Amino acid sequence: MPVWAPRVSKLKIRQLYETDARGIYDRALIDEVGYALLARCESFVAAVRAVAGEATCPRCGAVVSHTGQKGELLRCPCGWELTWGAYFSTIQHKQLSGAEPVLRLFREYVAAYPRARTSRERILLIDRLLHGFHWYYKDDTPTRPVAINLIEGRLGDVIAFLEDLTYGNRSTPGTRECFAVWRERAEVARGWSRCKET
Ligand SMILES: [Zn+2]
Repeated sequence: MPVWAPRVSKLKIRQLYETDARGIYDRALIDEVGYALLARCESFVAAVRAVAGEATCPRCGAVVSHTGQKGELLRCPCGWELTWGAYFSTIQHKQLSGAEPVLRLFREYVAAYPRARTSRERILLIDRLLHGFHWYYKDDTPTRPVAINLIEGRLGDVIAFLEDLTYGNRSTPGTRECFAVWRERAEVARGWSRCKET
């Protein structure tokens, strides 16, 4: 069965922002969070691709195309096989779906993070990723924070968690500005979701 990287725990992310607010770069902690997010982003991109018709073989990594029929048997040359229905059940209800703007954000993060040399660059990449949004394709309105796809918890918990992260005078420059933009977009997103519900 395919295995998807889990969403990242709030504890480590909170510690990351607390140490950053004190002006400390803890490289081990940064990379623990950074690579957990990278694995999650890779899983997200692979899951969306699988749903779009190109599943990844969990044994050898080859791409196995399918038409989306639940009973269709996915067969890889390496000998692995599974029905699409069983494959899809590993993806459902795991916050593993999104459209192109989110995929672009996640792919960019996956490519950029390992190449970033300094702790400061890595913090900024993590920060930008965590404060991304899903966008409504028709009018480019933010719909919900991508943090729901990256951090464990329900949407309301995750939003409250991001609102509660610690910033200080010694936080990496740019992080508080990123949060300010995020908060404005979150307001729009909340309004937009309410309109959709009613
Ligand atoms: Zn295979």
